[in-house]
Amino acid sequence: MTVNKDFFQPDRDFNYDFQSAGKPEVGWQAASQLPEALVPTHCAFCGVQCGMYLRVSDGRVTGVEPRDYPHNQGKLCPKGVVAYQQVHHPERLTTPLIRRGGKGGRLEPATWDEAYEAIVRAWHDIQAKHGKDAVAIYSGSSMTNEKCYLMGKFARVALQTRHIDYNGRLCMSSAAYGYAKAFGLDRCPLPMTDIPHAKCILVVGSNVAECFPILMHWIWQARDNGAKLIVLDPRETPIARTADLWLPVKPGTDIAVLNAIMRQLILDDRVDEAFIRDRTNGWEATKAMVEPFTPEEAERLSGVPAERILAAARLYGQADPSLIMHARGIEHSTHGVNNVLACINLALARGQVGKLGGGSMTITGQGNGQGGREVGQKANQLPGYRHITLPEDRAYVAKVWGIPVDELPWEGAAATEMVRLMAEGEIKSCLVACSNLMVSLPDNAVVQRALANLDPLVVVDFFMSETAELADIVLPGSVWCEDEGTTTNLEGRVVKINRAADPPGAAKRDWEILCDLAKRLGRPHGFGFRSVSEIWDELRLASKGGVSDYYGITWEKIDRQGGVFWPCPTEDHPGTPRLFTERFAHPDGRAKFFAIPFAPAAEEPGGDYPFRLTSGRVVYHYLSGTQTRRLGFLNSQAPEPWVEIHPQAAGPLGIQSEDMVRVRTPRGSMELKALVTPTIRPDTLFIPFHYGHAQAVNQLTNPAVEPSVKIPEYKACAATVERVDSAPRALNLGPQANLTAQSSPEMFPYASGEEQAEEGKMY
Ligand code: SF4
Repeated sequence: MTVNKDFFQPDRDFNYDFQSAGKPEVGWQAASQLPEALVPTHCAFCGVQCGMYLRVSDGRVTGVEPRDYPHNQGKLCPKGVVAYQQVHHPERLTTPLIRRGGKGGRLEPATWDEAYEAIVRAWHDIQAKHGKDAVAIYSGSSMTNEKCYLMGKFARVALQTRHIDYNGRLCMSSAAYGYAKAFGLDRCPLPMTDIPHAKCILVVGSNVAECFPILMHWIWQARDNGAKLIVLDPRETPIARTADLWLPVKPGTDIAVLNAIMRQLILDDRVDEAFIRDRTNGWEATKAMVEPFTPEEAERLSGVPAERILAAARLYGQADPSLIMHARGIEHSTHGVNNVLACINLALARGQVGKLGGGSMTITGQGNGQGGREVGQKANQLPGYRHITLPEDRAYVAKVWGIPVDELPWEGAAATEMVRLMAEGEIKSCLVACSNLMVSLPDNAVVQRALANLDPLVVVDFFMSETAELADIVLPGSVWCEDEGTTTNLEGRVVKINRAADPPGAAKRDWEILCDLAKRLGRPHGFGFRSVSEIWDELRLASKGGVSDYYGITWEKIDRQGGVFWPCPTEDHPGTPRLFTERFAHPDGRAKFFAIPFAPAAEEPGGDYPFRLTSGRVVYHYLSGTQTRRLGFLNSQAPEPWVEIHPQAAGPLGIQSEDMVRVRTPRGSMELKALVTPTIRPDTLFIPFHYGHAQAVNQLTNPAVEPSVKIPEYKACAATVERVDSAPRALNLGPQANLTAQSSPEMFPYASGEEQAEEGKMY
């Protein structure tokens, strides 16, 4: 959706005062005193991070207008144009809340002093009795880099706990590890503006048109230039409907297709032998691995007709440059890292990585999904993508933070593992920021039991999310445009968010809450920040010399250049839009192939559960829906979830569109309306995941995780469906494997993830 161009105003015409931006809060003009202004900023939702202006009048954000930023060129999607409506929303949290009368009591208003005192007293007691690691931080990746950075520092310096992780674990961890393994560095290798140069685009497991609508703008330009489009997806999504070729894959079986395409490239002599010889390692093992994947074998495993696999291999193999784009459809998997590596293998075999318009790219989901994983809030990472187990990395960051290196905690539990530690009583209290575990984690009945064990569960949020409802203490935070700072979009482009309003009532900016808590915990050193720009400057220093080096990125340069791509090691460095043009980031400068075997999903259909259930986004909502379900227009378009079912499956079950049906998996059941549609495989069901309570698809999903990064398998589990008014019955969808991984009531179903990554480290 393009905003009315009549309102367009180029960057130079706004009357926002950059001189005041980034200056200490002291003497800052309150937003309520700002004159009418257009504040240049970026959308709060999704990794594209479209540029926009917020119209501000008398201290209120009254609208949005287009901003001609390099990667969105004035365009916004339906979410972007209404994002501002959350700012003055009547359901904003405006005062701290404390649950009085124990776990069964009610959340009641409190002062900040009361809330802080209760938290600090509880944390002191817990840590004195059970050790520092008994308190954890579960953070988010929709916050600015500065807030994410401070979360990591707060956990390790103020709380001195090793347990901090973030919800990007549920989103980007497969891609992050895959890119680091193959290229030595985790970042999209090319800018969006390269996409129109591609002559073939292979989209693997991404509903681009609904999840990242403005990214489509670049794909359309490639199409206008003659590019072929292939989509590998269990559903004929909006982008698949426009493709030259749709490969309707069974959820969880993508590797069979990707390996078969590779085999065909070899047979057709379409691999780039010189590139493989000069710039990569590991080719021979990969070549041998794909040999058994004939198109017919791939069809048997994946359900994609052999002739379509052949056609895809030929379309992709003949194009130069060619680009593979992938996202959560393949990454939310117990073999998500391998799925990513199978995509990268193809791009390397064709010699495309580092070329204008060529290679592979993961499409980051959360607004700051890229930056959030670089600045030190991951269980195993320090700022600059430094590793918490490497002595030189620990020493550098400890020096920046002014603490003895021995005080720096070691690697902690992944977000998904934290749930198990909460349930087992090892983690006794947790601060949750900008995350809605009760919607976003799989098998959420188990999550609820784990959260109930915490005392206190502290939630920082700006709306009463499904997780905040369970909290013992709720701290009212700020929405994105009530603060300033940077985010890093899916390209690796660092952009600047600017302040357009002040938090309502007694609500505070999240970084102020952390600094307040650090001081009350008796650890004030290093938390005396008076402004976001001071945090940014420390973050730049902490990242200096690291993999994701932000040191040379200044806010002024971001404004001048239309964002700055990391790495940017010095202030006179322009940043690095395109990576790997000459060398990869491994010490020998070469990329790595990985031989990827086929593996089924952790839970295959069969017996009482003949369908594969998958889940995903719709264009009108963002992540757990905490924000978008409160915005009138968006909610009116998609007020409740539904289950998509193919007519061939719906017919024998007597199901028609709008019928209430019950979807069951080994973990539970939910009732919702059916949407009978031919745009899904007959053996597959789809439910959007943006809803809470009885409408949450994560009542049903499988908590099995990928062994090295612990990302859950959201995209494939065994399920069945029936009309609500009908008795359960078996449905024969053809030959099916037996159900291989049911949850046992005796076992805590969150996997411990004992198998580790090849280097012996979780990534
Ligand atoms: Fe752009 Fe994403 Fe916001 Fe839509 S949701 S306007 S695509 S950043």
